[in-house]
Amino acid sequence: MVDIVAHDFFQNLAYNRDNNYRKVDTMSKLERISNFLNENEVDMTFITNPTTLNYLTGLAIDPHERIAGLMVFPDKAPSLFTPALEVEKAKENTTGFDIFGYEDSQNPWAVVKEHLGSKNIQKIAVEFSDIPLSKTEGLKSQFSGVEFVNLTPLVERMRLIKSADEIEKMKISGDYADKCFEIGFEYANSERTETDVVAKIEYEMKRMGVPQMSFETIVLSGARAANPHGMPEDVKIQDNKLLLFDLGVMKNGYASDATRTISIGKPSDFDADIHKIVLEAQMAAMDFVKPGVSALEIDKVARDVITKAGYGEYFVHRLGHGIGMDVHEFPSIGGSEDIIIEEGMCFSDEPGIYIPGKVGVRIEDCLYVTETGCEPLTKTNKELMIF
Ligand code: MN
Ligand code: MN
Repeated sequence: MVDIVAHDFFQNLAYNRDNNYRKVDTMSKLERISNFLNENEVDMTFITNPTTLNYLTGLAIDPHERIAGLMVFPDKAPSLFTPALEVEKAKENTTGFDIFGYEDSQNPWAVVKEHLGSKNIQKIAVEFSDIPLSKTEGLKSQFSGVEFVNLTPLVERMRLIKSADEIEKMKISGDYADKCFEIGFEYANSERTETDVVAKIEYEMKRMGVPQMSFETIVLSGARAANPHGMPEDVKIQDNKLLLFDLGVMKNGYASDATRTISIGKPSDFDADIHKIVLEAQMAAMDFVKPGVSALEIDKVARDVITKAGYGEYFVHRLGHGIGMDVHEFPSIGGSEDIIIEEGMCFSDEPGIYIPGKVGVRIEDCLYVTETGCEPLTKTNKELMIF
């Protein structure tokens, strides 16, 4: 094992070749973890969530059923443990980590134990929200009597406030979502099916170098959009009905998520009215967002608009969710817990009205909080556009 002194490590910056126009500053992130371990007398972390791993190291790997773990220590440079077939990639894409791997024929937990040598491990910090019992059992099999400490609150807190660099990446993902709308609006008509339009959008994104969508693209026609979790099917897009698009991409490790509802042909007055109410709610919430207000207050601003218009019972979900490297992350906007909004937070503002058998409208932008308010990450027109 190459013994890397913590001091040397912290002078380095991780370098992610996939994003080679930008160096990822992992120093302060890993220092924060290290400080947490010191304060709580924890011997090490074993971080397995691929998104957290990417966030902390700049390395994007998905080990599937194999095991990858980031071990941060209170007193020395961190170790990165990966399947043998990922070791070279890990070495190429990071700097300063003690990287070691295991072969498929080996017991990964025994390899970890052996690598740590005689180090006495009594407490391990893991993400309670993420780690399966099979992995905590694997650790216990080598470190008998070990206690687990929850790292989730710290990681959530760190990921909650986006750096300028992260916001730049989120803007790029937002730009691609805007491009998706442009492609989809142009392509959708009553000769085509919902899945035709999905295919067109996703094909064009792949051609533009987007590795993946951030979730399955949603295109729903007419009353089919009244199901907030409806999935596109091989059904024709209806004329003179609304058409809902909910989509986003994953680019440079960051997600976008946005919704627009347009009209194919002439909308009914009723549908146009529902659209107008949702838009008013969405914009009222966006106008309200600034540091110091609370998540529940933001939800209420949007909900009040819809309730006053008489459709409160048809707005059946929270107003929004945090977004970043995951399309849904901490915090909830209008969930069971409240939180005070701070500069650098990113979350969605997505009110909807869903009237079963009739119509469904949702309008969604993700936004980032600035010193005095907020800015949307998607810019596509939100008025009821007719195609
Ligand atoms: Mn969303
Ligand atoms: Mn969405």
